[in-house]
Amino acid sequence: MQRVTILGATGSIGQSTLDVISSNPDRYEVFALSANSDWEALASLCERFRPAVAVIAQPEYREQLAQRLKVSGVGSEVLSGAESLVTVAAMQEADTVVAAIVGAAGLLPTLAAARAGKRILLANKEALVMSGQLFIDSVKQHHATLLPVDSEHNAIFQCLPTAVQADAYMGALDQRCGMRRILLTASGGPFLGHSLADMQNVTPGQACRHPKWSMGRKISVDSATLMNKGLELIEACYLFGVSTDQVDVHIHPEAIIHSMVEYLDGSIIAQLGSPDMRTPIANALAWPERTDAGVSFLDLFSMGSLNFSAPDLARFPCLGLAASAFEEGGLKPTQLNAANEIAVEAFLQEQIGFMQIPDLVSEALQVETCGRGQDLESILEEDRRTRSWCRQWVTRVAGRVEAN
Ligand code: NAD
Ligand code: MG
Repeated sequence: MQRVTILGATGSIGQSTLDVISSNPDRYEVFALSANSDWEALASLCERFRPAVAVIAQPEYREQLAQRLKVSGVGSEVLSGAESLVTVAAMQEADTVVAAIVGAAGLLPTLAAARAGKRILLANKEALVMSGQLFIDSVKQHHATLLPVDSEHNAIFQCLPTAVQADAYMGALDQRCGMRRILLTASGGPFLGHSLADMQNVTPGQACRHPKWSMGRKISVDSATLMNKGLELIEACYLFGVSTDQVDVHIHPEAIIHSMVEYLDGSIIAQLGSPDMRTPIANALAWPERTDAGVSFLDLFSMGSLNFSAPDLARFPCLGLAASAFEEGGLKPTQLNAANEIAVEAFLQEQIGFMQIPDLVSEALQVETCGRGQDLESILEEDRRTRSWCRQWVTRVAGRVEAN
C-alpha cells in the first residue's frame, strides 16, 4: 500500500490523481490533501477520501474547514498556513508526495519532500524551473525519487532504458544511454493558427479554452503563449541533464505523441496515448509497474494522420525567452518564471493584453539578477524582486491603457 500526499488536491492534477487512486484502492491510500483557499472543495475531498491530514494554505479558512469536518465526522487533523504545507510534505507516514500546486508557492513544500527522501511525482514545473540544480541536487543528496508527471517528461521517461529510469537522478543522459536528442511535442495551444494581429486582442476566456487538454487557468494561458513549452524545455534540461540544443520542440496539434527520444543509431522512441493526465499520473504512481488509469484507449484507425511542424518564435516569443534564460543560467530561469507568473495573473485580470505577456517577461529579463548563486535564499530573493518589478510594470501599463 502506497500512502500518498497530494499538494494541490483541489486542482486539475489533484483531481486526476484522486481519480487514479479511486480506480486502484488496493494499491493507494490518501495520507494528506491540501488546497489554497477553496475549503469547501477540500472538505468534500476529505469526506470522500478521509485523509489523516488536511491542509488549507490560507489560514483564514481553517476554522470553517475544521467545523465542517467535525460535523461530518471526518477525523482529519486540520493544519493551515504555507508552513504547514512544508510540514505535511515531509511527514514520515507518507511514501509519495504529488507536487500539484501551481506556481512558485509549490517550491518550499516540494523541496521539503525532496529533503525527506520521498517519492515525488512532479507536476509543479515552476518549482523546478525556479530552483533548477538546487532541487535536482537535493533529490540526489537525500535519495528521493523524482518521477515526472508532466505528460511530455513522463513520455520521455518512458522512452528511456529501464536501467536509466531506475536511477532517481537521471542527469547527463546523452553520455550514458546513447541518446541524441529529445523531441518535445507541443499541441500549439488555442492560437496555433492565429495571426499576430488577431493574437493582440484575445481574451482570457479564449486563452483558457485549450483544444486538447482541460487544465487550470495558469497553465492554460502558458499553453496559449507557448511559455508552457518554454518552462518544459527548462524542465527537460534539468531533469535529464541535457542542453537546450539537445531538445527540439515539435508542434504536433493532435497531442497523441507526448514526446520522443532519438538515439544515436537513428531510432526514435515515442510514447502515445489519449491526451489525459491520468495516464502519466498512473504511470508515475505505479512505476516501475503499470496499473489501470481509467482512461479511454487510443484507436489509431480513427486518428487519421499525425502532423508535425516547427514552432513560430515570432508569434510565440515566450519559447525563445525561456531557452535564452536557461542558456544564460544563474538566476535567469527564476526571473523568467516570476515574471511570467505576474504577467499571466495580470492578463487573467484583464490588466494587460495577451501579447504583453512576452513583452513583460522580455523586459523583466533585461534587469540584472541579484547575483548568480543558485542557493535557496538568492532564489527566493530573485523571485520576490522580479515580482515586485513586474507589478510596477503592470501598474504603469494598465494606467496608460485606462488613460487612453
Ligand atoms: P489548478 O489551478 O487546477 O490547481 C492548483 C492547485 O494548487 C489547487 O489545489 C490550489 O488550491 C493549489 N494552490 C494554488 N495556489 C496555491 C498557494 N499559493 N498555496 C497553496 N496551494 C495553492 O492547476 P493545475 O492545472 O492542476 O496545475 C498544477 C501544476 O501542475 C502546475 O504547475 C501545472 O503547470 C502542472 N501541470 C498541470 C497539467 C494539467 O493538465 N493540469 C499538466 C502538466 C503539468
Ligand atoms: Mg506538459
